[in-house]
Amino acid sequence: MSAIDILVSEVGPRDGLQSIKSIMPTEAKKAWIRAEAAAGVPEIEVGSFVPPKLLPQMADTAEIVEYAGSIPGLAVAALVPNFKGAENAIKAGAHKLTLPLSVSETHSQANLKKTHEQVYEEVRKIVELLNSLPEDQRPEFEGGLSTAFGCTLEGKVPEKKVVEAAIKLMELGCDEVGLADTTGYANPAQLRRLIKLIRAEVGNDKLTGVHMHNTRGLGLANVLAALEEGITTVDSSLGGLGGCPFAPGASGNIVTEDLVFMLDSMGLKTGIDLDKLLQIRDIVVDALPGEDMYGFTPDSGLPKGYGENGKPGWGVAA
Ligand code: ZN
Repeated sequence: MSAIDILVSEVGPRDGLQSIKSIMPTEAKKAWIRAEAAAGVPEIEVGSFVPPKLLPQMADTAEIVEYAGSIPGLAVAALVPNFKGAENAIKAGAHKLTLPLSVSETHSQANLKKTHEQVYEEVRKIVELLNSLPEDQRPEFEGGLSTAFGCTLEGKVPEKKVVEAAIKLMELGCDEVGLADTTGYANPAQLRRLIKLIRAEVGNDKLTGVHMHNTRGLGLANVLAALEEGITTVDSSLGGLGGCPFAPGASGNIVTEDLVFMLDSMGLKTGIDLDKLLQIRDIVVDALPGEDMYGFTPDSGLPKGYGENGKPGWGVAA
């Protein structure tokens, strides 16, 4: 794969699918992942290792991780809420594990049924397990700072708390931390401030990715602000799948197609073929009849003449 400027990490098979009621058949998940990898998407978060009782949509995650791991060149990420999940993710061969810590402790207790201290204990045990693995079999381990921009239960989340949680996760042995706008509350100024504050404590190379939602229409504005701070990994979901249960009509994650159009047209290399990417929606639409799909680029199509002068880059000075 040629060098890329920005790593687009597709999270639809995890974040999108876990947020909707319908269950996507395992074969459709595989076809979706296969098609995105073929379009050049370098990393996909393919599932979450939660008990199937809680999220039946994710019951086949081990099989999906194994399948995705067989696709050459694709980095396979998985969400792990606890030690048990991490064990299973490692067994299935995931390349990257993300453990979400809700900075809002109320949210943490409501969602994971765990206090911060209990989540940190899981992190400790996961790091121990990772350290016992041979170097070449050790997946990357990210501590995700979720509800970092505000919480549906607590409201405002103090920035000091986010920074403290980032420091703690790094002290416990995470490889890096990520910022997640779980609730779609973030704005560009707030995001820039938090990136700076966290990086000042943990180092620039320990915060390289953001996970933004588009609940209030600020998804891409936030991404641009993050790029200007030097962020190089951006999560997104094909068709903004998943929506937002608290905001009818609003997409959940930022839309992969719109994100790639923005990056590509700015001349930033993603390694993704936009034409191919735009065709993948059909796989998801067919497998999930009645689910809402979002995105402006898929609706409007590419601008006239797009890509004629070689890709990526359009509207870039010749
Ligand atoms: Zn999310």
